[in-house]
Amino acid sequence: MYLCYVDESGTPEIPGNSSHFVLAGVAIPIWHWKTCETDINTIKQKYELENAEIHTGWLLRKYIEQNKIGNFEKLSYTQRITEVAKLRNIELLTLQRKNSKAYKQTKKNYRQTQSYIHLTFNQRIAFVEEIATTIGNWRFARLFAECIDKIYFNPSKNKRNQNIDEQAFEQIVSRFEQFLSITSQDAKTKFYGMLIHDNNETIAKRHTNLMKTYHQKGTFWTQIDHIIETPLFVNSELTSMIQIVDVCVYGLRRYVENNEDKIFNYIFKRADRKDTTVVGVRHFTEKKCTCNICSSHSLKNIVPNHLP
Ligand SMILES: [Zn+2]
Repeated sequence: MYLCYVDESGTPEIPGNSSHFVLAGVAIPIWHWKTCETDINTIKQKYELENAEIHTGWLLRKYIEQNKIGNFEKLSYTQRITEVAKLRNIELLTLQRKNSKAYKQTKKNYRQTQSYIHLTFNQRIAFVEEIATTIGNWRFARLFAECIDKIYFNPSKNKRNQNIDEQAFEQIVSRFEQFLSITSQDAKTKFYGMLIHDNNETIAKRHTNLMKTYHQKGTFWTQIDHIIETPLFVNSELTSMIQIVDVCVYGLRRYVENNEDKIFNYIFKRADRKDTTVVGVRHFTEKKCTCNICSSHSLKNIVPNHLP
């Protein structure tokens, strides 16, 4: 059996606040689950992040207070926390008096980054890269993803009347099903799969209903014979394995939106492939796109170190 952890990045609404919407799943066989969980927790412990959730977007921001503290990198973790807290309290008190909107936003930003303030910017980069490298080295894991360019997505040309989120979910389900079917044929034993999602009430309802339909009628691309049940929704705060998909969707979105390839190169190694063609990850955009995802789909320009 395979567990496929699913998460998203960007907003499915048009235009929303991102040019792309990315939905991704990382599938691992259950007999490797313990190793994966241990790998991630070991890295978290190394950076004293064992009780923190991995929110890549928040981890990889510059925290201005850290730059204001002299010799920040030479301080102990406890000293760093104390010094940052001091500056943050001063800032909040000032904002509270002057600007209630900025006060609320700043308070939220501080809350989201609170678990990471003992690490310098470079340490936080190193942490995320270590997680990404580890995922990239899990030869048994498979990455499935749909990266939709919202400028290219035209609802009026969409004959099946799907919205962005539905298209992305149907693609992930179909590709995971295909992977399970092929893996089962090769091993001459039937492998099942299950989707595990980061909990979000709106998505939970939508994806549960979509999955029920797929079980009855199949997706547009395939019957569903190997994926069981509707997705399970878990609290990402409590489950390290769902948090690793956050790193993957972050890496994919930064790549398709800004051409940043550091994290992408690590995790793209795990994209599901048929021979040398990437079949598990798609960039839904204009035909002339020459990015690594698009060119790996068409068998051109495959960079050797992207092969599994
Ligand atoms: Zn592309």
